[in-house]
Order: sequence, then C-alpha cells, then structure tokens
Amino acid sequence: MRVLITGAAGFLGSHLCDRLLSEGHEVVGMDNFITGSVENLAHLASEDRFLFIRHDVSNFIFVPGKLDAVMHFASPASPNPHSPYGYVNLPIQTMKAGALGTHNTLGVAKAHNARFLLASTSEIYGDPLEHPQTESYWGHVDPIGERSVYDEAKRFAEALTMAYHRFHGLDTRVVRIFNTYGPRMHTDDGRVVPNFIIQAIKREPLTVYGDGQQTRSFCYVDDLIEGIYRLLISDLHDPVNIGNPDEITIQQFAETINEITGNSEIVSLPMERGSGDPQRRQPNISRAQNELGWNPKVSLREGIEKTLPYFREKLAQA
Ligand code: NAD
Ligand code: UDP
Repeated sequence: MRVLITGAAGFLGSHLCDRLLSEGHEVVGMDNFITGSVENLAHLASEDRFLFIRHDVSNFIFVPGKLDAVMHFASPASPNPHSPYGYVNLPIQTMKAGALGTHNTLGVAKAHNARFLLASTSEIYGDPLEHPQTESYWGHVDPIGERSVYDEAKRFAEALTMAYHRFHGLDTRVVRIFNTYGPRMHTDDGRVVPNFIIQAIKREPLTVYGDGQQTRSFCYVDDLIEGIYRLLISDLHDPVNIGNPDEITIQQFAETINEITGNSEIVSLPMERGSGDPQRRQPNISRAQNELGWNPKVSLREGIEKTLPYFREKLAQA
C-alpha cells in the first residue's frame, strides 16, 4: 500500500510511519510541526519509501501519485493548559485539524478510492457516566467546556467519517485511542506520563493535580500501534477502543513512578482544568479482542522502563 499519514512528525504518527514501512508499505507523511518535531522523522531521511510533505491539513490537500490508505492523526492532543502544546492554548487550530482536517483527508481518500482511518479518542466519552467505556456509550461531554475544542472536534470527525462511509460508501475505520505513552512524546507535552517521568529524572516533585483519585488506563505505544495496524487491515467500520484496561489512580501512578525511579516528593496541586478532567477512564476492549484478536502485552512498569531512556537522552541534550 501507499499510505498518507497526517500528524507524521508527532508521537503516534512517527511510530505509525515506522510500522507501515516495516510492513513493506510506502508512506507519505504530512505535518505542519505545530506540536510535532522533525527529530521524530530524522531517521527516515534516507528512506526511499518515505516522502514528507510539510502542510497544514486544515487547507486543501494535494498528494501526487496513488494512495491506498489515509490515516488522519494530525491534531494537538495534550489537555494540559500549562503546556504550550496543550490544545486549550491552540483552540482554533485544534478545531480546524479535527473538523476541516478530517473533511480534507476524507476528500483525499475519496478522490483516491483509498481506505480511511480516523484517530479518535476516549475523550469523545467526556467525563463518562458509564464505566468501563464500551463503544456503544454515547458519552458525557460539555459542549462549551475547556476540553470541548478537542472533544467536539473529534465527535464531529467521527460523525463526518461515518457520513462518508454511509453516503459515499468510503471504506472507513475509527480508532478510539485511550491514554498512550512512550518514546517520542515531546518533553513539553504536559501529559501526565512525560510530566512525571521528567520530574522523576530531575528529582523534582511529582505534580498530582487535584486529589489524585481520578483514574486513567495507560497503554504502551507498541501495543497501540499493533491494534491500529490490525484495524487498518480489517473490515471493521464501527469505532474500536484501543487501550490498556489496567486502571490506576493518578496518585498510584505517581507512586509507581517513584518505585521505578527512586523517590521524588509527591505534591498536590490544584486542579486548574475546570470541571473537564474526567474522573474515571478505562476502556472496555472486548471489540478489539474479539474482532481483531488484539490484547495489550506491555505492563505499565515495563512500558515506563522502555520510555525512561528516551527522556533521559532528551534531557541530557537540552
Ligand atoms: P502529537 O502532538 O505528538 O502529534 C500530533 C501531530 O499532528 C503533531 O506532529 C502536529 O504537528 C501535527 N498537527 C497538528 N495539527 C496539524 C495540522 N493542522 N496540519 C498538519 N499537522 C498537524 O500527539 P499524539 O499523541 O501523537 O496524537 C496523535 C493523534 O492521536 C491525535 O489525533 C490525537 O487526538 C490522537 N490521540 C492520541 C492519544 C494519546 O494518548 N497519545 C489519545 C487519544 C487520541
Ligand atoms: N495530571 C497530573 N499531573 C500532571 C499532569 C496531569 O496529576 O502533571 C493528571 C490530570 O489532571 C489527569 C491525568 O493526570 O487527571 C491524565 O492527564 P493527561 O494530561 O495525561 O491526559 P488526559 O487523560 O486528562 O487526557
């Protein structure tokens, strides 16, 4: 296949490029570097099956040559208002990447008669009233809250993808990604995994927001990419949750980081993220297990140990 991947210079997009190339496909990567980094793609500079196009997906997209698949991953993804990369600080760009960017990438897929895969998110469930979250749950989202620029853009993106599938017969997939971490996350990303790892390496206090009783379920990047690749080559048009169902409170997560890296103080900071910070999040992955034969394999401890060297090196360079 020849595959267009938007958001290719980002954390997940760059790992996807690697996976598709390793499967023997050709990749066209597209990114405008708003939250991504050219360093994530530097190792592909001399790869002749890889072409990079610097472009904002909110604008009309032209890709020369044939395409067999389009994977739309371009979007800011961190909710942290303290990070310059947080979507709260990039609200219009985030809505445009999710809305106009999805429209443009669907248009490219339709023009090339290519299959289309949308990177959606557990955020479409909002602050969920159903636990764990199954794909049939409609969600609990504040349409004007701080997170709405991301959540509602992704909900619109899912609706538009299903409209292209139903109305135009486009061969679409939707992956609902739950918290994923690993090497190539930006050091200024602001999400909890890079924050705690960087704080631990620097022996600074780990900053738990609120009472730390909110939960998340963290998936290592290799497991996620495996699930997404299986979805891409499947015939599944309904949305699929991909994530690790091992649920943990943020306080327990801080303690786990301390067990792995030595002891940092754990401090509690006020929750400055409005009412939007979901209290609980855990994927029900039955659909991925049954339809894709997929299961995450990497434990949290193993995944953190695989991620630490990357951040150690980044901080040493800084
Ligand atoms: P990231 O910020 O590392 O990567 C996003 C990439 O998209 C960046 O390289 C950025 O420069 C690029 N981009 C943003 N807007 C663009 C635009 N208008 N035109 C071209 N490029 C643009 O984030 P990530 O964690 O790799 O997330 C990738 C995708 O996965 C996003 O769509 C995100 O919503 C989704 N997702 C990620 C997670 C996660 O835990 N990592 C969870 C749910 C969903
Ligand atoms: N969080 C925290 N300290 C940090 C960063 C995040 O306690 O330094 C909390 C945050 O309030 C949320 C959880 O960790 O409850 C996960 O946040 P993240 O930004 O990783 O993404 P989210 O799952 O909220 O989209």
